[in-house]
Amino acid sequence: MGQNIDFEIVVIGGGIVGLASAYKIALSHPNVHIAVLEKEDNLAAHQAGHNSGVIHSGLYYTPGSTKAKTCAEGRKELAAFAKKYKIPFEICGKIIIATQEKELANLEQIFQNGQENKIEGIEKIGPEQIKEIEPSCSGLAGIRVPCTGIIDFTEVAKKLGELIEEKSKYSRVLTSHKVLRLDKHDFFTNVVTDKETFSTKYIINCAGLQSDRIAKMDGVKPAVKIVPFRGDYYRLTEDAKEKVRNLIYPVPDPAFPFLGAHFTRRIDGSVECGPNAVFSFKREGYSRTDFSFIDCWDSLSYKGTWKMFFKHIRYGIGEYARAFSKKLFLQQLQRLIPSLKAGDIQPGNTGVRAQAVGPKGELIDDFLIEMRANSIHVLNAPSPAATASLAIGEYIKEIATENFKLKV
Ligand SMILES: Cc1cc2nc3c(=O)[nH]c(=O)nc-3n(C[C@H](O)[C@H](O)[C@H](O)COP(=O)(O)OP(=O)(O)OC[C@H]3O[C@@H](n4cnc5c(N)ncnc54)[C@H](O)[C@@H]3O)c2cc1C
Repeated sequence: MGQNIDFEIVVIGGGIVGLASAYKIALSHPNVHIAVLEKEDNLAAHQAGHNSGVIHSGLYYTPGSTKAKTCAEGRKELAAFAKKYKIPFEICGKIIIATQEKELANLEQIFQNGQENKIEGIEKIGPEQIKEIEPSCSGLAGIRVPCTGIIDFTEVAKKLGELIEEKSKYSRVLTSHKVLRLDKHDFFTNVVTDKETFSTKYIINCAGLQSDRIAKMDGVKPAVKIVPFRGDYYRLTEDAKEKVRNLIYPVPDPAFPFLGAHFTRRIDGSVECGPNAVFSFKREGYSRTDFSFIDCWDSLSYKGTWKMFFKHIRYGIGEYARAFSKKLFLQQLQRLIPSLKAGDIQPGNTGVRAQAVGPKGELIDDFLIEMRANSIHVLNAPSPAATASLAIGEYIKEIATENFKLKV
C-alpha cells in the first residue's frame, strides 16, 4: 500500500456516542490505534453536555426497536460503569402523570410498552399515590418507574476519554481538532483537520448535530437530514426546589420523539424544568436569537423540513409561543405542579437536539446507523442515546470488528 497509517480508526466526535464506541473498541482491541477527534476544546461540548442528565428506563420506546434494546441494556451498564469509576449517580425513580382525561389512553400505551420492554418494577398509580410520591403534584393517574436515574453525562464522557488512552496505549483523544475534509484514496483516507492531517483506514462518524455533513464528506448521501431543535430549561429557585423530590414527567404526545417539559432533580442538587422543542436557526446555537445562514439554508432548502412544519404546525406554534413567553411555559408546568409560581422559576440551561428528519417530513424515531465498506455513520442518535451510549458503543464495536476485520 506504501502509505503510513497514523490511526487505524478515526472516530469523529468527542460526544458520548463517539467516546463510548472508541472505548469499546479500545477494550476489545487494545492494539488497534484509534483517534477520537473533537472540534471543541472540551469533550461533551454539545448534546452530551447539554441534556437533562436522566438515565432513562426504556419504557417509552417501540418494543423491538434499537432504542428499546440499547436503552435497557445501556442503562444497566452505565450504572455499573459509574459505580466502578465513582461517578456520582442515583437511581431515584420517576413518575409519569396524566393530568387530562385525553392522556389516559397514551398513558396506558406507555405502560403496555414498558411491560413488553420488561422494564422492572413499573406500576400504575392513582391520585393518592401520586401525592405520596410527589406531594406538590396532582394528576388523574400515573406510572411509577423505579429504575430511572440521574447522572452528569459530561463526567461519563470525560472518564471514557481517559480510559480510551489508558486501555489502548497508542490511541489518542484529541480536542480542538475540527475535521474539515476527508480526502479519500483507494486504501486509506486523509482526515484533514484545522490543526493537522491524519491518515486512517476506517472512519466512525459520531458527529451529532454535524453527522449528515460528515457523512457527505465521506461520499455518503444520507436519506435524512439533521434538523436542530432547541430545548430551553428553567431552573427552580432554592425556595421552590422542595416542590420536586425526584423526576416528574407529563404524558408525551405520541406524534413526537420528545418527552415533554418535565421536572428533573439533577445530580448536583439543582432542579430543572423543561425542555421545550423549537426549530433552531443554528445547529449549535444556544440562545433564542442565535442564527446561522448556512444552517438555516441547509434546513429550509430541504423539503422534509417544510413537510414536517406543515404536519405539526399547531404543535410548533405552541412550542414557539412558550419559548418566548414565560407565562405560557409556566402554565404548561402548572399542569403537573399547580402551586408553581412565576417567581419559582428562572431561566436555566439550553440544549440543541440533532433530530434526523426524512424526506416526507417524518421525525426519525429510532437510532440510525449506516455501514459502508470503510466507514460507519451514526445518523440519528437522539435521546436516550446518552443512557444507551455504552450499548450503542458495543454494537458499533461489533460491526466494526466484523466489517473492518479488526485484529484482536
Ligand atoms: C435538551 C436535550 C435533553 C436530553 N436529555 C437526555 C437525557 O436526559 N437522557 C439521555 O439519555 N439523552 C438525552 N438527550 C440526548 C443525548 O444528549 C444525545 O442523544 C447524546 O448526547 C448524543 O451523543 P452524540 O455523541 O451522538 O452527540 P454529541 O454529544 O452532540 O457529540 C457530537 C460531537 O461531535 C463533535 N463534532 C461535530 N462536528 C465535528 C467535526 N467536524 N470535527 C470534530 N468534531 C466534530 C461535536 O463538537 C460534538 O462534541 C438529550 C438531548 C438534548 C439536546
